[in-house]
Amino acid sequence: MFWDQQVETAGRTELERLQLHRLQETVRRVAHIPFYKQKFTESGLKTGDIRSLDDVRRLPFTTSADLRANYPTGMLAVPLDDALRLHTSSGTTGKPKALFFSRKDVDNAAELCARSFVMTGVTKKDVFQNMMTYGLFTGALVTHYGAEKVGCLVIPAGPGNSERQLLLMQDFRTTFIHVTPSYALYLATFLEKHGINPRRDLALKKAFVGAEPYTEQTRLKIEQGLGLDVYNSYGLSEMNGPGVAFECERKNGMHLWEDHFLIEIINPKTGEPVLDGESGELVMTTLCREAMPLLRYRTRDITSIIAEPCECGRTHRRLNRITGRSDYMLIVRGVNIYPQQVERILMSQPGIGSNYGIHLQVLYEMTGRVELAQTGFDGQVEHLMSLQNHLAEKLRAEILIKPQVRLVQPGTLPVSEGKAKRVVDNRKL
Ligand code: ADP
Ligand code: ZN
Repeated sequence: MFWDQQVETAGRTELERLQLHRLQETVRRVAHIPFYKQKFTESGLKTGDIRSLDDVRRLPFTTSADLRANYPTGMLAVPLDDALRLHTSSGTTGKPKALFFSRKDVDNAAELCARSFVMTGVTKKDVFQNMMTYGLFTGALVTHYGAEKVGCLVIPAGPGNSERQLLLMQDFRTTFIHVTPSYALYLATFLEKHGINPRRDLALKKAFVGAEPYTEQTRLKIEQGLGLDVYNSYGLSEMNGPGVAFECERKNGMHLWEDHFLIEIINPKTGEPVLDGESGELVMTTLCREAMPLLRYRTRDITSIIAEPCECGRTHRRLNRITGRSDYMLIVRGVNIYPQQVERILMSQPGIGSNYGIHLQVLYEMTGRVELAQTGFDGQVEHLMSLQNHLAEKLRAEILIKPQVRLVQPGTLPVSEGKAKRVVDNRKL
């Protein structure tokens, strides 16, 4: 199923020719922005110097610090009159960044979401219950417009209020949702607690899950708990929000829409490119944005490129699951730990629920508070102790330090509706 078959299956040569043309246009479009103007002057770059896609490496990087430094309107490429919508990033990593969209940008963002939904089989007959947070965050509005473009019935539910979610899913026969992994897991537990068997009682077919990192184990847990197929959905506010890269029906890596974004994977320390298939930081240059084009934006997201063609026939290369952010790494006793390593272990253990938190109190200790599954505890304290020990050992094998593990009753840890805050770091470093 294709939304725009010609573009989605364009030959690489044709795609790259289009990219080069759009890159040259983008460079011309940003040249008058004081931030880029100064960078170009410093490196002696002229807008005409970009003659091949490899020349992208002559362009300056843009970081989230640059966006903050030029807050609120310093990065605008068009007069404010031509900006149609303002979004901000959700600010997981600090003060928000202001992102502007022109009319064409709003439409393009919806277009990419429409493509992304349709490639998994979504049609106008589908009913979309959007569980992303509505507001300044791009997550909900961009997917909302995308599904409307396809012609779906869109229910702007937002996250949380699970009783109401259930009512809406029952009464309007919702067939697909867009949701964060943390809320999807919570919803699965909620349904179980209320005796709802989703395959029997609901019409759900698909969930697009993203906005925060999660693992294959979590995908399986959500698929089982909600009785549907989970497709990975990647995006960031700086690049329109959702719709940057989504999985096709093969569920094997996310097609990144290369007619809109030029991608590089670099070594985050040296800034040099890594080979296809090697992990590094994703760097993106917008190719179509009008209001706020960005050159070589450092996403901080760690991933790798799958260069082999996909069986679905799309030629846009795929990204592997994001394994973490280069700025979201915990260092405990000198060891680098990504929270997803912890999640991968926890989610593959029987008897464990879906909510957990990582607490760092004193310099050398890491404590994991982990909820038991609804059916996980038989009342025997020895069993609890041995499960705690077993988890601590499993974690040590993965992250190389042995954390303290405290198992707690299901439903006792805080539930997040937007992005999960799994890590509480109270260390004074
Ligand atoms: P913030 O950086 O303030 O959280 P956004 O709300 O735009 O800004 O969130 C974008 C970030 O969310 C991405 O850079 C990435 O780290 C994370 N993210 C989004 N989708 C996914 C996904 N499918 N897998 C892993 N991480 C994701
Ligand atoms: Zn594919």
